[in-house]
Amino acid sequence: MEYKLTFKDYNEALKKGKLLGLKCKDCGALTVPPKMVCRGCTGTNMDITEVKGKGKIKTFTVVNVAAEGRQGEAPYIIVLVELDEGPWIMGNLIDINPQKAGMELIGRKVAMGTKVFPGDKYSAGDAARPLFSFDD
Ligand SMILES: [Zn+2]
Repeated sequence: MEYKLTFKDYNEALKKGKLLGLKCKDCGALTVPPKMVCRGCTGTNMDITEVKGKGKIKTFTVVNVAAEGRQGEAPYIIVLVELDEGPWIMGNLIDINPQKAGMELIGRKVAMGTKVFPGDKYSAGDAARPLFSFDD
């Protein structure tokens, strides 16, 4: 089986601010981030499509202790966002002091930008991550 959209290609697009997903030609479901098979029907009949990156916060967590080598990034907020097109993706939330984040964040509308983070000893090099800011 062949990957329609590899993580490498997904990440290269993300570095340029483009969020890519896979749209199923059989059931219409959108799979983001890319997977081998459709999240709706497990089929492989999918096309690469660009996703807007707007949605709302479903839940979040504040990270006070970062992973080894990333201490300079803490504290930061990781959000789980339900995109307007359906899929849920994770990213960082900016625009708010992590120490002041509370449950009122849930349901807030956000829009996606991206940031490229340098690689570390656990990764294969630079990687982009969605960076969400408020959009309401
Ligand atoms: Zn499908």
